[in-house]
Amino acid sequence: MTGVLLAHAVTDLLAAGKPFGRHELDEAYVARRRHSWIETEGVVAERARDGFHAGVVTGLVGMALSGLSGGRLFMPVEPRRPHERVRSLAQYFGDRIPAAEIDRIVRDCTQSGQPLHDALLERAGWPAIPYDGALLVSHQDALLVGGKVQAAAGYADHVIFHDPALCRDCQTRLCIEMCSGQALMPGSGGVPVFDREKCIHCGACYWSCMQPLPGNPDRTNLVFRAGSGGLHSTEN
Ligand code: SF4
Ligand code: SF4
Repeated sequence: MTGVLLAHAVTDLLAAGKPFGRHELDEAYVARRRHSWIETEGVVAERARDGFHAGVVTGLVGMALSGLSGGRLFMPVEPRRPHERVRSLAQYFGDRIPAAEIDRIVRDCTQSGQPLHDALLERAGWPAIPYDGALLVSHQDALLVGGKVQAAAGYADHVIFHDPALCRDCQTRLCIEMCSGQALMPGSGGVPVFDREKCIHCGACYWSCMQPLPGNPDRTNLVFRAGSGGLHSTEN
């Protein structure tokens, strides 16, 4: 629907001979969208998932409340921010891997430029996945079925780090662990390296960054921006 709204805005601008500037698109598209049912429904749905932070049953009750009341009622659970939601490695693996060993695994993986998940999960008892050359179909593959559009040279990356110093101090680097496209990998000095040609725009890194911005804890250090290139997925 937003695509249709944008298409109408663009054809209106073309018909009127106006340029595709920010001001014109604000008038032709943004205003249209703000007055559409998407905006109204968005407000109704705004807190429809509150409750899942506390459990599945609470979440389902919250959705029912919100759905049946048109958004007037919702589960009064304060959503937790990312950094409040994610446990540290020691908290998560502490009952299965001694702290000194967790430290060693982190050091080894940092030195070899590898994510932590394989080493930690295998040490915790998960079976290793043999690299046998056979295709392993993941949600990434499903997203990529439609094909990836290569980003044009010279354009800025769409995933950036607001303050690299926060990445250096980051204890989990969860963005790297969550990126099953291996588009984020350990980089020198603790700042992840982003490879936009591997990124499938899933957004997992964006939801997973654990570092709140100083003075703005609703935002985290990983910034997901509009950018060149992208995905033509079956989902899209
Ligand atoms: S982007 Fe966020 S999660 Fe990733 S290393 Fe930086 S601070 Fe940590
Ligand atoms: S959006 Fe983030 S997590 Fe997803 S593939 Fe791109 S870099 Fe990786």
